[in-house]
Amino acid sequence: MSDQPTPMMAQYLAIREANPGALLFYRMGDFYEMFFDDAVQAAAALDIALTKRGTHGGQPIPMCGVPVHAAEGYLLTLIRKGFRVAIAEQMEDPAEARKRGSKSVVARDVVRLVTPGTLTEETLLEARRHNFLAAFAQIREEGALAWVDISTGAFQVMPCPLSRLAPELARLAPRELLALEGSGLEDLAAESDAQLTDLPAGAFDSTAGARRLCALYGVETLDGFGSFERAELSAMGAIVDYLDMTQKGKLPLMRPPVRESAGGAMQIDAATRRNLELTQALSGGREGSLLTAIDRTVTAAGGRLLERRISAPSRDLALIQARQDAVAQLVEDRRLATDLREALGRVPDMDRALSRLALERGGPRDLAAIRAGLTQGALIAETVAPDSAQILREAAADLTGHDELIDLLDDALVAEPPLLARDGGFVAPGFDEDLDETRRLRDEGRAVIAGMQAQYAELSGVSSLKIKHNNVLGYFIETTATHAEKMLAPPLNETFIHRQTTANQIRFTTVELSELETRILNARDRALETEREIFARLRSAVLAQAGPIGTAARALAEIDLTAAFADIAAGEGWTRPQMDDSRAFQIEGGRHPVVERALKRKSESFVANDCDLTSGETPAIWLLTGPNMAGKSTFLRQNALIAVLAQAGSFVPARRAHIGLVSQLFSRVGAADDLARGRSTFMVEMVETAAILNQADDHALVILDEIGRGTATWDGLSIAWAVMEHLHAANRCRALFATHYHEMTALSARLDGVENATVAVREWEGDVIFLHEVRKGAADRSYGVQVARLAGLPASVVERAREVLDALESGERQGASRPAALIDDLPLFRAAPPVAQPAKSQASPLDARLKDVHPDAMSPREALELIYELKSLS
Ligand code: ADP
Repeated sequence: MSDQPTPMMAQYLAIREANPGALLFYRMGDFYEMFFDDAVQAAAALDIALTKRGTHGGQPIPMCGVPVHAAEGYLLTLIRKGFRVAIAEQMEDPAEARKRGSKSVVARDVVRLVTPGTLTEETLLEARRHNFLAAFAQIREEGALAWVDISTGAFQVMPCPLSRLAPELARLAPRELLALEGSGLEDLAAESDAQLTDLPAGAFDSTAGARRLCALYGVETLDGFGSFERAELSAMGAIVDYLDMTQKGKLPLMRPPVRESAGGAMQIDAATRRNLELTQALSGGREGSLLTAIDRTVTAAGGRLLERRISAPSRDLALIQARQDAVAQLVEDRRLATDLREALGRVPDMDRALSRLALERGGPRDLAAIRAGLTQGALIAETVAPDSAQILREAAADLTGHDELIDLLDDALVAEPPLLARDGGFVAPGFDEDLDETRRLRDEGRAVIAGMQAQYAELSGVSSLKIKHNNVLGYFIETTATHAEKMLAPPLNETFIHRQTTANQIRFTTVELSELETRILNARDRALETEREIFARLRSAVLAQAGPIGTAARALAEIDLTAAFADIAAGEGWTRPQMDDSRAFQIEGGRHPVVERALKRKSESFVANDCDLTSGETPAIWLLTGPNMAGKSTFLRQNALIAVLAQAGSFVPARRAHIGLVSQLFSRVGAADDLARGRSTFMVEMVETAAILNQADDHALVILDEIGRGTATWDGLSIAWAVMEHLHAANRCRALFATHYHEMTALSARLDGVENATVAVREWEGDVIFLHEVRKGAADRSYGVQVARLAGLPASVVERAREVLDALESGERQGASRPAALIDDLPLFRAAPPVAQPAKSQASPLDARLKDVHPDAMSPREALELIYELKSLS
């Protein structure tokens, strides 16, 4: 056998070669087939059967395939697993190819490259999340980040030096990041879960980028959109180039680029976002995050806007106040809020419908979505009174002016159109005379056929005769073999023309029937053709209004978010924070929205707490002590979340709040708490702490939880101490500092503006009861021993711990220099095990283990582990 590939294989290999780096979905009839290594990889990733087809170079060709109708699900799995997929479609009818000769292959070409950042299908996207494609460009020292959500068309850019890239990626969480090959961004991309796509230098050329952008927007110069740095042009240009490549020339709808100013948003770095669980819980999912706990939006676009606001709270005082004015109006006017939310509930995802229409992936339902969105928008605009808050008024104004398009879509579309334009049936009767006429012909033809059946039954005397239809024969007359005999003989055989004999049936046609069939078919084709034309017309009418429709969609999202903030404020008793550009931070009766929600589910109530970090001449820092489990972390985080909510334009979970704009928010937890991420090294903690000390300005809000606990006690204490002094002297910012080092409480006497606070517990019959109440003053003792007892440590160990503690404390009072000395002074271990005591001559395993213990060299965590170990020995 020759090794010449078949013509089809030759075509496959050519397309394969032209599309490196992606799995090739090769359309064959009702399947997408994959061959060679693609098949091996895809079969494993999708858990589908791997088979063989023909040979190549003497070897069998591995093959697997997925049905076209179910392809989206498989695509999603592949994309999630990090693959890119090139889709090669049949570009002509197989009949065309046959006409060219028996050996000729159906023309195929790649119509689209599917990558994580370029999805548009409803089923492949999360409704309430943006799907960003980002590009990072660098020209000498200048860096820039551009990003687009092609499913909504939002396109943004900002200057971004390499050092700011990590926090920006953490904020945006793009699905895919484009970068110049060899730029070494693998780790940064992985950290934010983005797929890194390397592009050649040509894609990042800033002059070519500017040209591409001008062509995209049909302008001579980009000046009308703002002035951009070269790195920004390079990043935006790379995005346009990449979209052109992946969409094979069909560019998605892109709104003009909006330049984001670096000073516009509260700066929050990646570690802080993670730690505060703003949009994602530490456990990975969205459940447990601030976003999920407070999301009361009713539209997907509103949900996406909330995510953007929480991820980037504003620093623009006037804007924040305008947003809160609007929330306040809806908190007051619950009736209006309810009406708005009801109307919003009927608003579909216009952004995404619009983008599908632009990419020629849309159908009649996308037109209907635009109709429904604009119709509800017009109703909402009428609901908003002219004396409303500015944000609502402006949004309402953006919703008007679409009457003509609404009327057109209303007249043209049936109430509930089908998904695909291909099958027709979506144009409303009365819209197009021609269409109505052809449809009448088509439907009448069907009625005539019913009449014909009766007529032929009478003529042949076969009352059971039926007229049927299938795809091979079209319309035919069918009867059983016994009845057919008459019809096969003269004179009836002049009318009934034999077509086919099956096992039990004989099938006929007549001249009259086939003529009618042709007429019906023609009418059907004409009707479909007319509907297709109408679809194209409606699509261009919609796209001609793409800009204003996008604006209307954004206005609806804004109203949705405002009403959602009002809903949670009214329902949960949140208040409007007083905002200014002072350095106030005064919270009365503050609560943690996520913990409170979790407690509520268990019918427990949250204890509200005050916090006052108002700084004047001196910075204000609270040093919070208290036993584990008392609620220190909760208190710290709740105050950070209140700042985020306030600047996101929301009311806040507190009785009263006065907040001076926060420029930067930092939050760090001691290494031991960060175990969930598997990067609990002390080094990471210190690197992150260094970042705060180097960056925090005097409008920052800093939250430090158990800094220094990742190392031995005295090391940790010294570091925590020095960090605190630096925050006070150099950063001079508002800060909350939780620690279990009681020694640090002495700092309040030395540093102006540092105050001690503690989370109160009560001792009752030797046990601790957590009150979760934050009070001024230092915790009188740590209660660690009591907590250990609550955790079920054996009584003997607890007893012994108490002795050690007493000795340490009295030693401290007497000014002993080293705790090791104190420990040396303690009578050797003599805690009596409550039950069987080992014989004196035999050292117990407990004693033996204790001999090796060096308390000084232990971190608190190691100490805890030791206690567990001791317990297992006892
Ligand atoms: P710590 O940081 O002091 O170890 P946490 O802040 O982790 O303590 O709080 C431990 C638990 O106590 C929380 O999971 C929560 O269930 C409860 N808790 C904390 N603060 C409060 C509060 N203000 N009201 C009610 N329960 C609280």
